[in-house]
Amino acid sequence: EEEGEQFEFQAEVGRVMDIIVNSLYSNKDVFLRELVSNSADACDKKRFLALTEGDAEPEPMNLRISTDKEARTLTIEDNGVGMLKEELQENLGRIARSGTANFVKELKSGESDVSLIGQFGVGFYSAFLVATKIEVYSRSFKATPEEQKTWKWTSTGGSYSLKEEPDVQLFGLQSGTKIVLTLREEAQEYLDSGKLSDLVKRYSEFITFPIELWNEKVQYDQVVDESAPKKEGDKPKMKSVPRSVFEWEVMNKMKPIWLRNPDVVNESEYTEFYKTTFKAFDEPLSVTHFKVEGQIEFRALVFIPSTMPFELTRDMFSAEGRAMRLYVKRVFINDKFEDLIPRWLTFARGVVDSEDLPLNVGREILQKSRTLKIIRKRVVRKVLDSIDELREKSPAKYENFWNSYGKYFKVGLVEDMDYKDELKRFVRFWSSKSGDNMTSLDEYVGRMQEGQDKIYFVTGEGKRAAEISPAMEKMRLKGYEVLYMVDPLDEICSQSIVDFDGKKMVDINKAGLDLSKNEDEKKEMEDMQKEYEGLATWLKKQLGERVQKVAISDRLVDSPATLVQGEWGMSPMMQRYMKSQTT
Ligand code: ADP
Ligand code: MG
Repeated sequence: EEEGEQFEFQAEVGRVMDIIVNSLYSNKDVFLRELVSNSADACDKKRFLALTEGDAEPEPMNLRISTDKEARTLTIEDNGVGMLKEELQENLGRIARSGTANFVKELKSGESDVSLIGQFGVGFYSAFLVATKIEVYSRSFKATPEEQKTWKWTSTGGSYSLKEEPDVQLFGLQSGTKIVLTLREEAQEYLDSGKLSDLVKRYSEFITFPIELWNEKVQYDQVVDESAPKKEGDKPKMKSVPRSVFEWEVMNKMKPIWLRNPDVVNESEYTEFYKTTFKAFDEPLSVTHFKVEGQIEFRALVFIPSTMPFELTRDMFSAEGRAMRLYVKRVFINDKFEDLIPRWLTFARGVVDSEDLPLNVGREILQKSRTLKIIRKRVVRKVLDSIDELREKSPAKYENFWNSYGKYFKVGLVEDMDYKDELKRFVRFWSSKSGDNMTSLDEYVGRMQEGQDKIYFVTGEGKRAAEISPAMEKMRLKGYEVLYMVDPLDEICSQSIVDFDGKKMVDINKAGLDLSKNEDEKKEMEDMQKEYEGLATWLKKQLGERVQKVAISDRLVDSPATLVQGEWGMSPMMQRYMKSQTT
């Protein structure tokens, strides 16, 4: 069909394309959002490249959108980073991101929706929702002088072709990408300037580069009215004649949302920003927007998603799943820096815009930066405050939060000494008295019996297993509440908590459980020791190496005997967990 080298798409791409080309999906507008966001990403990348390794100052960057009614094409162009030939092949012929295969499956079965395509690293292909043919012209900022070529990538869906295209004009002097869509019969509406202008406004509001639309404007020219009756000596009569002119019109004139005063931003603007910037489809569970002035100046806007971000569903600490966007004086630097927020807040999405960090900030600089440490501390403080507010004011939302992200906080408790005490307040466990809800340590302490001075817990695989543990018998008799540690993370976390409100955490299944006793109980225990000493010695002889020791204890009520771990030993659940981790 096309001249140039022919290439096949990777099988997964073929499948995505099949679905898109045959999609009856009515909301085709998403393609524009995807292409605009790719162009904005490309501009961000160029600026970052120029800062970190280039010697070339990047030209001012922007996006341009135009139509050609006769040719029935829609063109989206940017002067961003561009692509080398290999990058065109790699980026527009393959799927790099894990989890995309799942998306394809879900799309097929109707469980997922085409509008989510951007999350799966295949947003570009949504252009086939409206186009029969896509042409991509690109010149890379990374190219060495001898490979400064403009490449043309073309596809009508089945396969694609690549060739050099020296004659095409790109408005970017250094680099850029131009995408020309030949619109489908049923997608001619995207040639309509009214429709296009609405859409572009909607999708460009939160893009920090100017987006220009080649827009029709009516201008009035003053011309001599020849038809007017004339008398000798009169000045000629003039009239206004409308004329259509085209000009580049900037569609996004608003300040970036995080620079605005929080008082003037409404909830739906935050939600819209959250969705477009982080490719999310849910509503944020909480929004934290603030500004710090003084010795250090920065602005921050942080969201907690109400559903776990897709990239974190398989691996809770996946680097791909990080999305705290660091800006320095409005210039986007990176959204994958590890040091901006603690690992246990990986799920947070947001923007930090600093006035003080150097523009060419790299990972090494950041790691040592005192400024960043202060920023991080302030951001964490504010985010924890907003979670605290959820906890106090909207229990249902807090429950949602805990179900989604509790495991992050448990890990935080274990690995982050700076926030350990802070995080204890947030933890929730099941317990023998918590019923259908989980309990906080605070609530537990509030329910403690007279004379009880420890926080008791039992481990078990699931609530039921914990409940029927023989060690529970005595606890029930005493009326003591017991926390159920039902997964390995609970258990590691309980060890790390050590104490709360001055009360020690104690595993009721470990040796050395020391329940406070009254005089009668002490006497009874002494008698038992004497009476059964012989039996204990005999049992130890019979069991030999299989047990460490046999002890007479008052921890049971109905059961005659139970197995416990040594005070410093691991629970059976933990032992199984460790085994499964090492094999
Ligand atoms: P994603 O944006 O999630 O990576 P896409 O399917 O939207 O997935 O785009 C795939 C890749 O193609 C991008 O990651 C980028 O490398 C490249 N790309 C797409 N559009 C452009 C563009 N306008 N300029 C430079 N690179 C682009
Ligand atoms: Mg994209």
